[in-house]
Amino acid sequence: MMTKAIRIHAPGGPEVMKWEDVPTPEPGPGEVLLKQAAVGLNYIDVYFRTGLYKAPTMPLIIGQEGAGTVTALGAGVTSLAVGDRVAYAGAIGGYATQRVIAADRLVKLPDAISFETGASMMLQGMTAQYLVRRTYKVKQGDTIVVHAAAGGVGMIMCQWAKHLGATVIGVVSTEAKAELARAHGAAHTVIGHATLAAEVKRITGGAMVPVVYDSVGKDTFTASLDCLAPLGLMASFGNASGPVPPIEIGILGAKGSLYLTRPTLVTYTAKRADLEATAADLFDVVQKGAVKIAVNQTFKLSDAAAAHIALESRKTTGSTVLLP
Ligand code: NDP
Repeated sequence: MMTKAIRIHAPGGPEVMKWEDVPTPEPGPGEVLLKQAAVGLNYIDVYFRTGLYKAPTMPLIIGQEGAGTVTALGAGVTSLAVGDRVAYAGAIGGYATQRVIAADRLVKLPDAISFETGASMMLQGMTAQYLVRRTYKVKQGDTIVVHAAAGGVGMIMCQWAKHLGATVIGVVSTEAKAELARAHGAAHTVIGHATLAAEVKRITGGAMVPVVYDSVGKDTFTASLDCLAPLGLMASFGNASGPVPPIEIGILGAKGSLYLTRPTLVTYTAKRADLEATAADLFDVVQKGAVKIAVNQTFKLSDAAAAHIALESRKTTGSTVLLP
């Protein structure tokens, strides 16, 4: 059986993504072959397509997330069986009808979670998990700032942080997105970042916040620092508006002995035990209904270019799934 995949032969705009026939790969030792039922769309796919993140090989099958069924086992794989329903995040090569993947990067998908939901939530949901439970432990009574609050990661974070007892100030670009963020757990919304610090000051009665989760990057970095209470934590975890330029670290002192981290899901799930714990925590909040995964857009995998255009032009909300 042939495999269909979206490949890029050079970095560039959405048009560099080509729907091509590729030989079906054979699982090597420790790997399995996966028939993918659904593939997740993530902003990191844009970074690999444009070349902001360096392609490991060329041509490259982009995509980091999917869900499907195990169809063949490589030598030495004992943790999985043919027919198992599985999902993953953080393994490049996702935009394909079939793929091989290391067995130790897969988790079994609970029966109650569909392939579409699984494929759209692993990367964004595990990111939300480590951000609110590990990078900074969000707790009852905290007020926090979440950027792109109506986006994939953002909408999950708003619900999860509310579930943990926090008050979320969500930052979005339009009134429609503000409404959506409020419907998914944000207590307050701010449109744009020009007045963000002033709004945070008003909402917190001058106390400011212990953590800002900033996935927008270049455009919002300084505005985010200005929202922090003394000793607050800036978690800069994305570059939707472009990468943050080098900073003068003295600014962290001047603005109140701030902490700065640039976390990635790869680090937080590198150990198998961490991957399992992170996924289990995500499955738990989804299965008990505390976090609902809003799959607000569906595209054919062959139409991945249209999905990228929608994501980059800020037209998507919540999560997006690509169907092979
Ligand atoms: P989103 O669904 O959040 O889409 C990106 C959103 O960013 C847009 O909808 C838009 O929301 C906002 N945005 C602000 N400025 C721009 C701009 N100039 N161009 C485009 N969008 C902009 O995407 P994801 O949920 O997939 O990812 C969110 C962010 O989290 C990304 O930056 C991603 O790289 C990062 N991420 C980081 C991870 C990590 O471990 N470090 C893991 C997963 C994601 P609005 O219109 O409301 O401003």
